[in-house]
Amino acid sequence: MMYIVLMGGPGAGKGTQAKQLQKELNIPQIATGDLFRENLRNETELGKLARTYMDAGELVPDEVTVAMVKDRLSQPDCAQGVIFDGFPRTIAQADALSALLGEMGEQVHIVPYIHVDPAILLKRLAGRWTCSTCGRVYHALFNPPQQSGICDLDGGTLYQRDDDTEETQKRRIDVYFEQTAPLLDYYRDKGILVEINGEQSIAQVQKDLIQAIRNIA
Ligand code: ADP
Ligand code: ADP
Repeated sequence: MMYIVLMGGPGAGKGTQAKQLQKELNIPQIATGDLFRENLRNETELGKLARTYMDAGELVPDEVTVAMVKDRLSQPDCAQGVIFDGFPRTIAQADALSALLGEMGEQVHIVPYIHVDPAILLKRLAGRWTCSTCGRVYHALFNPPQQSGICDLDGGTLYQRDDDTEETQKRRIDVYFEQTAPLLDYYRDKGILVEINGEQSIAQVQKDLIQAIRNIA
């Protein structure tokens, strides 16, 4: 059993790392941003509601986000563990997660904090391209696909997210510092926060993450 919360600002590399880690650890990634985008694509009521917040770079309300996670967490593939990516983002969400896992007789075991300087976060977001089929992310300079505009894994078309405009990126980083960064102390106080240097290569960050997880397993 391993319930992992990946922390880090927008663009820190949570999604990149979680997609590799889920194969390594054989447990699923729950990325609330990906779940909201799936709802946007399917034009669900949840998607319509989430869009207004996402386009502004603001957080979707806690009740809505927690209900969506609760639903996902109740599926059988989450029984052996989960890598949470982009959730929780507020103290209220962290309390809700702890209650949901508590009902399953579980808890958060480790919170790797992928630390990246804000100036670098902006550069990462500015060059981010996402696969329209599998959600894998690339970077125009730092992690380009083999063939421009095409996903290496499944040949899907790469796109730039609607909320990856300069203005929204800056707002998302501010929102991160205002509402999500307080979670670092929240998890530090519980003794489960582990800091990872996110300004290394993607492969080295992955190695450090696996090492940190093995250390507590
Ligand atoms: P990034 O990869 O840039 O950090 P995400 O894909 O995680 O962005 O999230 C995109 C947007 O989806 C956020 O700006 C926010 O509007 C919404 N969102 C994602 N996760 C949450 C969450 N846990 N709570 C509230 N809103 C969220
Ligand atoms: P997050 O999920 O934390 O918002 P992403 O995984 O989407 O972050 O990564 C943001 C951008 O930065 C993507 O374009 C990705 O290819 C790139 N990236 C991720 N990790 C690194 C790294 N260690 N070095 C350079 N670029 C990276």
